[in-house]
Amino acid sequence: MYNLISPNREPGAEQKFKEISNAYEVLSDDEKRAIYDRYGEAGLKGAGMGMGDFSNPFDLFESLFDGMGGMGGMGMGGRASRSRATEGEDQVYNLVLNFKEAVFGVEKEIEITRLETCSTCDGSGAKPGTKPSKCSACGGQGQVVSSARTPLGVFQQVMTCSSCGGTGETSTPCNTCGGDARVRKSKRISLKVPAGVDSGSRLRVRGEGNAGRRGGAPGDLFVIIDVLSDAVLKRDDTNILYSCKVSYIDAILGTTMKVPTVDGTVDLKIPAGTQPGTTLVMAKKGVPLLNKSNMRGDQLVKVQVEIPKRLSGEERKLIEELANLNKAKPLNSKR
Ligand SMILES: [Zn+2]
Ligand SMILES: [Zn+2]
Repeated sequence: MYNLISPNREPGAEQKFKEISNAYEVLSDDEKRAIYDRYGEAGLKGAGMGMGDFSNPFDLFESLFDGMGGMGGMGMGGRASRSRATEGEDQVYNLVLNFKEAVFGVEKEIEITRLETCSTCDGSGAKPGTKPSKCSACGGQGQVVSSARTPLGVFQQVMTCSSCGGTGETSTPCNTCGGDARVRKSKRISLKVPAGVDSGSRLRVRGEGNAGRRGGAPGDLFVIIDVLSDAVLKRDDTNILYSCKVSYIDAILGTTMKVPTVDGTVDLKIPAGTQPGTTLVMAKKGVPLLNKSNMRGDQLVKVQVEIPKRLSGEERKLIEELANLNKAKPLNSKR
């Protein structure tokens, strides 16, 4: 599904580029919030996945019934149908990029570990060659009726049979996956990170999370980006901040300086009469806009004017001459 794009553009490269670009998306703030709501801080940091979703009102009942025999650990919420297709869980991967990789985008090959459909049993969970038999716990109904005394009164609940998982059948478990229908596997995928991402950006790669069960859709892979800082260039959204030191003489007379940018060293004209603290704008030397990479921010260069702490005898003489010249000049003169 993924291919590394070679830098030389062979025929069809444009099309390939588009396919990969469409494979993921950068999440909006709302979607980020949704991930946070589901997985919390730990989820955003990628510590663990597949945690419970406590927005499900049935979880309350589940916890009340838990430990009363035969019902613990079953998810409910509309899963009582016979087929019981369940979606795969999402996965999180943390990706560290260097400064320029984040600015210009990069192709990264990453190795992820996730649950894939077991090929031994073809995702059925049953040992090949064995026939399923009627579940003895529910008599093949897939559901059990249960009453339980709780602090809120006596509840009668129709619950999914935990022995057969609602299928009404039990089978000899597959030796490879132990009946889970999925096995843990690692996979290398090639990821095209778009230009303009920053620390905290999240990419969704659809369908690259854990496999679903019994025909359920796979989960997604969320790639959470962390960007290493650069020694001299600082990032401020789409702008890049840099400060340069200019001698007082260069500030007065003007000069051209070599300035590091993400595009390499670039000449920057310091105009004559540049004031200390002036910010010079190097247009379009900043970070490309996410998903609008033909547009770029600027590099903002703050000029620090250096005043010498020591002067040579000759320098002092010249400065004093300059001072005398200034005194001779009437105040409020034009120049
Ligand atoms: Zn299997
Ligand atoms: Zn059963």
